[in-house]
Amino acid sequence: MKMPPHLTRDLGKPDAIPEAGIAKVAELLREGRLCRYGEVPAGELTQTAAFEREFATYIGRDYAMAVNSCGCALYLTLKALGVAEGDEVLMNAFTLAPVPGAVAHAGAQPVFVETAPNLTVDLESLDRMAAESSARILLLSHMRGHIADMRAVLDLCVKHDLILVEDCAHTLGARWNGQLSGTFGHVACFSTQAYKHLNSGEGGIVATDDTEVAAKVIARSGSYMFHEQNGTVPPPATLDAVKLATPNCSMRMSEVHAVLLRAQLPDLDERCRLWTRSHDLLRDAVKGTPGLTLIERDPREAYVGSSFQFVVTPRPPASIPNFIAACGARGLHVKWFGLAEPKGFTSRYSTWRYVEDPQSLPATDRILDGLCDIRVPTDLDAQDCATIAAILRDALDRTEP
Ligand SMILES: *Cc1c(COP(=O)(O)O)cnc(C)c1O
Repeated sequence: MKMPPHLTRDLGKPDAIPEAGIAKVAELLREGRLCRYGEVPAGELTQTAAFEREFATYIGRDYAMAVNSCGCALYLTLKALGVAEGDEVLMNAFTLAPVPGAVAHAGAQPVFVETAPNLTVDLESLDRMAAESSARILLLSHMRGHIADMRAVLDLCVKHDLILVEDCAHTLGARWNGQLSGTFGHVACFSTQAYKHLNSGEGGIVATDDTEVAAKVIARSGSYMFHEQNGTVPPPATLDAVKLATPNCSMRMSEVHAVLLRAQLPDLDERCRLWTRSHDLLRDAVKGTPGLTLIERDPREAYVGSSFQFVVTPRPPASIPNFIAACGARGLHVKWFGLAEPKGFTSRYSTWRYVEDPQSLPATDRILDGLCDIRVPTDLDAQDCATIAAILRDALDRTEP
């Protein structure tokens, strides 16, 4: 008898921190200087400041501010752009909970934009919602690494006089038409939470060329008036103009986190290449499975394949929970965005009940109902992919009537 396929490896395990980074953390712990601000010897750069410089160079922007999470990076950005209580902010309906969370944190109201079948923001809906709402800002998530037609998005931003903020939590190192994600918007935010492309457990980065935004983010993130100890420092006059008018919200990155990030940044492009290689191997292995549809990619998109999405249409449609359970029983953890109540890293706009004017988004609902997601490690091999494909095929077969 043939054994049913079973996946023995854990797709959710992040890669190890490079040994040099581990040694550097030990050194730092012995010194005890774990806070980025304070009585730093003159002329010495803290680990966090050094990381900010390295990151700004990598992404090609004037300023990079390292903070405690991407959710807080988004909040600090909204505040620096002048978002006030009750303001509307345009954003994708398909994104992760920290994004509407950041909008709520800033006292603002999200206005959701519909989702296109390729999981990016629907451009017609964006055009319509921008015209109908009073929002000045578009907070655009490249959710799960899917990048919208950025030319068209920028054209709509010009048409509606919108400031673009990019949420690049899944697109650090990705490109659209040759241009790095995070360089299209006025401001870009990145996550260094454990499942993103740089892993410090928790962490976030704000990147921009706007001097005033940089100064306000530095002050609000909680620089204890040590603004000049940042890695990329706005001119003194700009800092002086904002520093006393901006509350200290204590959203700093610690030196330990910065050491971990500095150890990973040099290998980022290579790791992105490995992720995409793993992703594409898996996609090719799964392609053609009955009842399973792949998400289309624009040839101008150079994505980083750190996760893999597909839509399932089992018969009957109500059998998706059985499909998820059948995969789980074989060691394959599949996330499903169609769940009535989100579980573990999935999220659905209709369940963010603190949003005051709930919208109904039928196109997004149709997509989320069958949308599934698998985490992709950097080192999937052909055997792993064949096993995953067999589990998916089996699980879909078994839900047939
Ligand atoms: C992870 C994530 C964030 C926020 O990251 P945190 O650092 O956990 O706050 C924002 N947007 C998207 C799309 C994400 O996946």
